[in-house]
Amino acid sequence: MSGPDLGFRTQDRMTHDVWLPDETVAVRAQARAAVARHLAPVARDIGSREESVDSFAWGAFRGLADEGLFAVPFDKEHGPGLEFPMLATCTVAEEIAYESSSMAGVYDGQCILVPQTLAHAQDDVRSQLIPELTSGRTAFAFATTEPTTSSDLTAERLQTVAEPTADGWVVSGRKRWITSSCVAGWVSMLVRDGAEGAGATMLLIDLKAPGVRIGTPDLKMGHRGQITADIVLEDVHVPHSHVLGEPGRGMGVALSALVRGRIGIGAAGVGVAQAALDLSVDRLRTRHVFGAPLGAQQHWQFTMAQRATEIECARSLYQKAAMLLDTGDATAEPEAAMAKAYGTRLANDIVREAIQIHGALGFARQVGETGESVRLEEMYRDAKILEIFEGANELQQWIVARRLIGRDITG
Ligand SMILES: Cc1cc2nc3c(=O)[nH]c(=O)nc-3n(C[C@H](O)[C@H](O)[C@H](O)COP(=O)(O)OP(=O)(O)OC[C@H]3O[C@@H](n4cnc5c(N)ncnc54)[C@H](O)[C@@H]3O)c2cc1C
Repeated sequence: MSGPDLGFRTQDRMTHDVWLPDETVAVRAQARAAVARHLAPVARDIGSREESVDSFAWGAFRGLADEGLFAVPFDKEHGPGLEFPMLATCTVAEEIAYESSSMAGVYDGQCILVPQTLAHAQDDVRSQLIPELTSGRTAFAFATTEPTTSSDLTAERLQTVAEPTADGWVVSGRKRWITSSCVAGWVSMLVRDGAEGAGATMLLIDLKAPGVRIGTPDLKMGHRGQITADIVLEDVHVPHSHVLGEPGRGMGVALSALVRGRIGIGAAGVGVAQAALDLSVDRLRTRHVFGAPLGAQQHWQFTMAQRATEIECARSLYQKAAMLLDTGDATAEPEAAMAKAYGTRLANDIVREAIQIHGALGFARQVGETGESVRLEEMYRDAKILEIFEGANELQQWIVARRLIGRDITG
């Protein structure tokens, strides 16, 4: 067995799309077919290869784009113009993560974070760049993190500074851990505005511009398909036309992207959890211990029943958070924070249990003599980052606690 393509999904057998709009159900089917065609055949290779500029999975990336998945968040001018675009986009993220958590991370950047920043671009910039994004011809990056700050994004902490000039800005500094930066054409970047007391500004920066250098790709525990690297800027000129939103109001743009991104990562956690559950169910049905299938042990029956219930809760949470955004709630909190923290924690818990259920086979990359492998080793390496990036889970719990207990107490 090379992956979780078991011919069934427990989700389909058991639970019901009670209120999911028809358009979302259709996009889920579209995504599942596209993932099977373009991602599944190469997913295990993507999950294990060493990161380099050349290892970016252009084939899968463009295959998913060719099937229309990158256009899902966009309006009629650039995409399908769905009534609930965020719900559909997160559903795609779940489907991609079922096969490859790292490619869901790439999708989250390209199709959730960046589109939300481009929503603040001038019309001519949008007309030029959105077709590049939806076609997959060009990869896009989103950069807030720096070597010395990430969870704390207050403007004073940012060391990447844009000094105003007569025709725009000159930007210098360094961003770290930036997804797809080594292959991307453009980045939406949060910088400190050098003008006195001006706060932070979101700029669209051409990564081919003079003064831009991309660092060597980072070598990570997992998410090997989500290649990250530093972006170093030395006196990079950015024209006025490439401000995203208003100068000095970039934090709002960044946070509105990150709230969407965190729902997408919650959805990715659900996809990973679902894949681990399905692998576990298959093993419980087919592996025998003490003369009976492993699934005859009440311990695993109760454990799996509990996990199936939790996955359903996590899925409902991210769907509800996405629906809040789609119906005009600009914050989608606390559901967005709940969805991110709960879905990603669950992914880690279920992957760890799935390894336990598989015994040595779960721990192995490959059985030497037979070539047999399950992807749980990869999933275990991959799942951890879901709890850290796009707002560490402790930050999500802080967001929930602020509403629960009150900011006067929690800070
Ligand atoms: C694969 C990958 C892809 C990434 N892609 C991008 C990208 O495209 N763009 C980008 O800008 N960044 C990206 N990042 C960076 C990522 O967003 C940061 O790593 C993340 O926000 C955490 O920041 P940090 O690593 O600086 O940790 P820190 O900010 O130093 O936090 C470390 C830990 O401190 C704890 N912590 C922080 N604040 C609190 C608090 N208030 N209460 C309690 N505990 C707290 C948390 O446990 C947290 O994990 C990526 C990182 C990785 C590994």
